[in-house]
Amino acid sequence: MQRKYIPLLVLLLSLLLLFASLGARITAAPVFSIAAEKTCYLTFDDGPSTVVTGRILDTLQKENVKATFFIVSDRVEGREETLRRIAREGHTLGVHSKSHVYSEIYSSDEKFLADVGSCAETISRVTGVSPRVYRFPGGGGENKAHFSTLLRKRGYRIVGWNAVCGDEELRGATASELFSMAVKTSQNKNEVVLLLHDSAPHRATAEALPRIIGYFREKGYVFSAF
Ligand SMILES: [Zn+2]
Repeated sequence: MQRKYIPLLVLLLSLLLLFASLGARITAAPVFSIAAEKTCYLTFDDGPSTVVTGRILDTLQKENVKATFFIVSDRVEGREETLRRIAREGHTLGVHSKSHVYSEIYSSDEKFLADVGSCAETISRVTGVSPRVYRFPGGGGENKAHFSTLLRKRGYRIVGWNAVCGDEELRGATASELFSMAVKTSQNKNEVVLLLHDSAPHRATAEALPRIIGYFREKGYVFSAF
């Protein structure tokens, strides 16, 4: 090759590299933004229970998915190891209630805060984790706004939901019916907070979970915990 062509060759190679890197950025950008846009939060209320929580944890471990568990601390005794497993496997532990008895919880500010505090104390005593997220039992009742203020002052993030699998509403539903309800109620939502239950009666929820995870994964959602 003649020496005078060398600078031209260097210039052409540089331009080629520049276009290649720009191209890589252009193709990478949409993939990233789709993944960031669609998030599914699996949230489990009312546990722990011996069989159902264990089965749910097995599925989450197999699928490498993190979830959030809102605990009823009166159900922890005898299931401390299940609670520790939730924490150990990287899921989030949240406060739901000590008693889950609405007439007691919501009867006064003192009773409400005592219920929250007792549940939080049990979670941190058993697992060493101080919970920072909260979900109202039964949705919160008529004084929800007032109680929310009390909770936020104490540093809690309050988590609701915008999709359900129907395991409370449709008593005795099959796994297939729960799957269909999760699909139906999550339509057209980029951020899905799905309400499920891991208390003892909900074996069908544990059975539906692999299909629910498969569905959201196929639709391009990433799973996240609070
Ligand atoms: Zn509940």
